[in-house]
Amino acid sequence: MEKGLTLCTVLAIDIQRHIFLYLYVEKEIIMKLKNGAEYMESLRKIKPRIYYKGKKIEDVTRHPATAPHVRAAAMTYALAASKEYRDLATATSHLTGHTISRFTHVHQNVEDLIKKIKLLRVLGQKTGSCFQRCVGLDGINATYSVCYEIDEKYGTDYFERFKKWLIYIQDENLMVVGAMTDPKGDRSKGPADQPDPDQYVHIAERRQDGLVIRGAKLHMTGAVNSHEILVMPTAALDERSRDYAVVCAVPVDAPGVTMIFGRQASDDRRDQEERIDTGKPVFGAVGGEAVIAFEDVFVPQERIFMNGETDLTGTLVYRFAAHHRANYGACKTGLMDVLTGAVSYLTQIQGTDKGSHVKEKITEMIHLCETLYSSSIACSAEGCPTPSGAYMVDTMLANVCKQNVTRFHFEVARLALDLAGGFIATLPSQYDLESEDIGHLVRKYFSGVEGIPTEHRIKIARLIEAMTGGTALVESMHGAGSPQAQRIMILREGELDKKIKLAKALLGIPEEEKEPSQRKAKQK
Ligand code: SF4
Ligand code: FE
Repeated sequence: MEKGLTLCTVLAIDIQRHIFLYLYVEKEIIMKLKNGAEYMESLRKIKPRIYYKGKKIEDVTRHPATAPHVRAAAMTYALAASKEYRDLATATSHLTGHTISRFTHVHQNVEDLIKKIKLLRVLGQKTGSCFQRCVGLDGINATYSVCYEIDEKYGTDYFERFKKWLIYIQDENLMVVGAMTDPKGDRSKGPADQPDPDQYVHIAERRQDGLVIRGAKLHMTGAVNSHEILVMPTAALDERSRDYAVVCAVPVDAPGVTMIFGRQASDDRRDQEERIDTGKPVFGAVGGEAVIAFEDVFVPQERIFMNGETDLTGTLVYRFAAHHRANYGACKTGLMDVLTGAVSYLTQIQGTDKGSHVKEKITEMIHLCETLYSSSIACSAEGCPTPSGAYMVDTMLANVCKQNVTRFHFEVARLALDLAGGFIATLPSQYDLESEDIGHLVRKYFSGVEGIPTEHRIKIARLIEAMTGGTALVESMHGAGSPQAQRIMILREGELDKKIKLAKALLGIPEEEKEPSQRKAKQK
């Protein structure tokens, strides 16, 4: 057995025995990549250009900065191979009838949308982290429906091209990174007015056999451990920005593609030696984001799914965002389940669990978590078909769902830190705990209830630290769009005129009476 696999296996056995079973034992054949181990093996066969802290990463499955994220994504493969979760984690392709990963499926009905939400919560519970694969799923669903509508309008053949590519993704069971967010340069200017045109990914050259693209995408969750990049525009574009209206698929190791993996809070603690201080030694703190730079990357015709059709860019971006906003009420509730469990256990082992205020705060954590989950289920239950047949979530409810994440997750984290106590911020390191000279002092003065090893209290504290600090909450705030993006859509979709009519109808105020704003305009 190779060194990296051995380390990973040891960690898995040591820390979460059931994960070992998912990753390496269940072998039933479903798709080409059948389980977590095969997924990791597939990543070792491709050679994307990835940098971290100025140095090249040769193997993302073994590098301490990236390996935890790889294992979190591997869980999406593992659940599909487990009898218990197969129904949630797989689907039947409407294109081929084959059994495929739900992460490559085009939602065919409301049941598909709801199963996805349930799957994401389970994955959040099992990894305590972002498992990254949903971004590609949302990109696939948005692109599928929009390609159909471009073809209807312009007589192009994007839909057939996309279906061919998607069948390849489904049958090979590949991981796709949905690449949307551009650097944006001067935010007061749109793509066409930037002094540097590369601030938005754009078509640098149109050739007979394809396109050459240039630019970059930022904050790309799961990019370094994906197989394919699905490039999409970042915003609705006007006619002047035709060269920026490009959707295409690019292999991660295509010539001209470079990734730079981001730093995360406490990433220097990821050395295998420091697995207690890491907090979450098997899986990452959050998704593992990277810059993807495209330096004149050639894309052949069959991988191009939009080429200048600016009028459909807004629809594409909005569908992608709505799907991803719906997801956040599922994956994040899985994380909140873990955090609530960690804090409850900590109160037990430090003897504070019987306090009425402790029970009250834990009740509030559960309440917030379930309220958030309700909106994720609700926007899925209210889903409806697009002209292509692919199902969309209810966009208003999806925006409300993500907006709630930006509050509830923070409130749950605040309550967790309140209950845990200040020692989380001042804990000595694992080196001190294991020191021959001073280890006895750490064990003695960080103990809790008699009979519970001090190490357990320290491990739980580090887990809470990892789940409430640094990057984890930033992700909840800005992932799937910053809070203001949802507020704009909530007001836009709020149908205020209809609500005004409801109030007027109750009071018998006639409809013909003009709104104050219209009256003023008329008087002028
Ligand atoms: Fe999936 Fe959640 Fe990660 Fe987004 S943040 S990729 S929805 S796990
Ligand atoms: Fe995210």
